[in-house]
Amino acid sequence: MSETVSTADLVSWIRAFRDAVQQHKDELTRLDSEIGDADHGSNMARGLDAVVAKLDPAPAGAGDLFKTVGMTLVSSVGGASGPLYGTFFLRMGPALSVDEVDATTLGAALRAGVEGVVARGKAELGDKTMVDALSPALDAWDAAVADGSDAAGAARAAAEAAARGRDATEPLVARKGRASYLGERSAGHLDPGATSATLLIEALRDTLADAA
Ligand code: ADP
Ligand code: MG
Repeated sequence: MSETVSTADLVSWIRAFRDAVQQHKDELTRLDSEIGDADHGSNMARGLDAVVAKLDPAPAGAGDLFKTVGMTLVSSVGGASGPLYGTFFLRMGPALSVDEVDATTLGAALRAGVEGVVARGKAELGDKTMVDALSPALDAWDAAVADGSDAAGAARAAAEAAARGRDATEPLVARKGRASYLGERSAGHLDPGATSATLLIEALRDTLADAA
């Protein structure tokens, strides 16, 4: 069981997120074509390619890493999701500017990231956005850590909760973002941002499982 999370692990997480978004690009765009403007897959893929291009050589520490990731997403992804994901990573950085990252620090950083998304986008749980995957994931992370889990175990619990949160967006009526323009017609479709946010947490689960 690995007790601490290295900067190299965190770089691997970001690379794994890019790979997952590339793999699911068409699905993300199809979901966005149903309740938005059909650009979520291409937006995220373009932004994450720009991010990965800046990871060689790898940033010296986790604080620098997430500053680079966040700033690159803000500047290279159009639409709502660029500033929101950008804010997520920009807020994580300062919480990780420490010598050793463990399950508790990483959980606090993820929480700072989600709080940044909420502060910026004003979405609440149930508004059919990425927050519906991220917020339950964080609660599951904290509960797992309180039960004695390490980061890999917390990430497993968080990924399950994110997927449940994503699935729960299907019947919801969107109250934020472009999908809200559809009103009742937004019901019956998964939210694209909750789907990409689940890929983010699943990428962390897979990376930490490999690192253990
Ligand atoms: P756009 O809607 O500008 O085309 P994207 O298609 O890239 O941007 O992203 C859409 C996703 O962004 C939605 O599925 C939703 O999860 C997320 N989103 C939109 N508005 C908000 C908000 N105010 N707060 C949180 N997430 C939001
Ligand atoms: Mg869109």
